[in-house]
Amino acid sequence: AAAVLSPCIELNDGNKVPVVALGTGRATAKEDDTNDIVRDSVLWAIEAGYRHIDTAAIYGDEEEVGQGIADAIAKGIVTREQLFITTKLWNDRHARHQVVPSLQESLSRLALDYVDLYLIHFPIATKSDDSPADIDYLETWEGMEEARELGLTRSIGVSNFNETQIDRLVANSRVKPVINEIEVNPTNTQESFVYHCQQLGVAVMAYSPFGFLVSRKISDAPPPRYDDPILVAMAQKYGKTTGQILLRYLIDRGLIPIPKSTNKNRIAENIDLFDFQLTAEEVATISAFNRNKRVIDMKAYKDYPNYPF
Ligand code: NDP
Repeated sequence: AAAVLSPCIELNDGNKVPVVALGTGRATAKEDDTNDIVRDSVLWAIEAGYRHIDTAAIYGDEEEVGQGIADAIAKGIVTREQLFITTKLWNDRHARHQVVPSLQESLSRLALDYVDLYLIHFPIATKSDDSPADIDYLETWEGMEEARELGLTRSIGVSNFNETQIDRLVANSRVKPVINEIEVNPTNTQESFVYHCQQLGVAVMAYSPFGFLVSRKISDAPPPRYDDPILVAMAQKYGKTTGQILLRYLIDRGLIPIPKSTNKNRIAENIDLFDFQLTAEEVATISAFNRNKRVIDMKAYKDYPNYPF
């Protein structure tokens, strides 16, 4: 199939980000699924037309992501400049002086000279034994600004910041965050918070975009599921799958979904989204599934300072 290129949106620093990113988090990996599949997935994704890949130091797969990128460049499918690579700083490296070295380590694993976007993964700071550390994310942000000035990353942003935290960061930083990467899907629509970020000039990347659509390891998964009649009717109308309907729902809300797949066909399916769009009424119908229920609640950190949820 011909590659499908996604449109871009302009960030508040002038850089442009493709509106669909391949997720490479390992949380939904099957038991027999080694990290080598990530290398193949990244290559398949770039062949299918993806230009944006989302990884993180904590995923333990930056090397495989870098190998997939190198494979695609060696095959002549893309140049480095045509790609947008996002990675993230983990919670145990929040001291200002740790930020630049942490990004340098990520770059070395990725075998890249720079990333396009570096994110503070969570507002929570920990020590290396995972106990709470007393470090303000405003201090961490100064390290992020240094990383940007050194050219190690083109843009800087955050993930999992709540409204109070993003407002405080925007009010107290020299360089504004370009993006907040948060969970958004039909069971956790976050409409007012998304609108708030967009009004601040902070674009929103939507992680766990499928919500509970496909099996999550919980018995009481809320709707919508893959065979939901409302989604199936929309899918039939547009000649798409229910997964594609949910990704298009996020794009039609101005978001940047991050679908994860390590399956070649589903990787291609998840970017084949630009020959249709939902009506405002259909967007509202999907938003009505909302229950403010998160896939990722990080409950283990609920008593830590700056727990965002
Ligand atoms: P997703 O919502 O992307 O769901 C992934 C699951 O959906 C996998 O089981 C996958 O299986 C399946 N799937 C993928 N495409 C389809 C399809 N078209 N039809 C049916 N099933 C499909 O979940 P994630 O939680 O992984 O989130 C996506 C990405 O977001 C992560 O990989 C990571 O990059 C990022 N993320 C960031 C977080 C943060 O704190 N910043 C937290 C969580 C995620 P298969 O692979 O077999 O196709």
